[in-house]
Amino acid sequence: MRIGFIGLGIMGRPMALNLLRGGHQLMVWARRAESMQPLLDAGATGAANPAELAEQAEVLISMVADAPDVEQVMLGENGVASAGRTGLVAVDMSTIRPAAARGIASRLQASGIDFLDAPVSGGEVGAVAGTLSIMVGGSTAAFDTARPAFACMGRNIVHVGDSGAGQVAKAANQIVTGVGVLTVAEALNFAARSGVDPARVREALLGGFAYSKILENHGQRMLDRNFKPGFKSWMHQKDMNIVMQSAHELGLCLPLAAATAQMFNAMVGSGLGEEDSIAILKLLERLSGGEG
Ligand code: NAP
Repeated sequence: MRIGFIGLGIMGRPMALNLLRGGHQLMVWARRAESMQPLLDAGATGAANPAELAEQAEVLISMVADAPDVEQVMLGENGVASAGRTGLVAVDMSTIRPAAARGIASRLQASGIDFLDAPVSGGEVGAVAGTLSIMVGGSTAAFDTARPAFACMGRNIVHVGDSGAGQVAKAANQIVTGVGVLTVAEALNFAARSGVDPARVREALLGGFAYSKILENHGQRMLDRNFKPGFKSWMHQKDMNIVMQSAHELGLCLPLAAATAQMFNAMVGSGLGEEDSIAILKLLERLSGGEG
């Protein structure tokens, strides 16, 4: 299949590489030449802008940052819509607000382009291994067209519902992972400040009801003090903001998500925004009188 890919960062680069490995014909565009180069070296062809990708691709994928970025590449100058390719399936795999995804879908629909929101979970490790969880919103016909591409990038691929449903699932995912990473950091900081080896505490907890992938993977990285992203803290702040905005619109009480969102605000305010979200441990240490 001819696939166009936009956004070749921590997640997009390995996802695009897996599409090449899957035997697809890949064409890429990135705003910075150095982001595009590793894909060109691996056998992809480069385009001058998103419109040029849209002219040639059957499926076009974006993996950028937030809603304004998706709007820019899909609907802006030299964007996907400006190519006028009816029948194209455009898939955004970034994490953005469900309402923004629905808006982009209806504006693309006016240009004859079918749009799927298909955010992912599984992190850089899952992107490299091709084992992401992919949560899809949009029409069944578009989902069926994009499925061979999804199969190269992910293992658990769920068509959740209509347009925006994938982003609702991802926001729910970020409630669990955001609260989860804060919880694990609290537990390990509690152990350390109680004078007990947090590595031994983690080991003990892994065998019981406190087990989680977050305790296993992120907990180990906290112990190693490996704060290299991964998943940047400002991205998790963005995601908690998506959750809280939706909660506000719906009149929902989300007390744990609200507290977690405040912690991610404080991370960005403390200069930790470019570090991995597990650096929330450092913030807790500082708030508890430690060095952080
Ligand atoms: P990243 O490393 O910062 O990569 C984002 C890429 O998007 C960059 O290569 C950037 O281009 C490009 N980009 C951003 N805005 C753009 C615009 N307006 N026009 C053109 N290109 C643009 O971020 P990431 O970690 O891969 O995350 C990407 C998305 O996946 C985000 O929505 C994030 O929330 C989501 N996500 C991330 C993870 C994770 O663990 N990292 C997990 C699940 C979901 P340049 O290279 O030119 O700067």
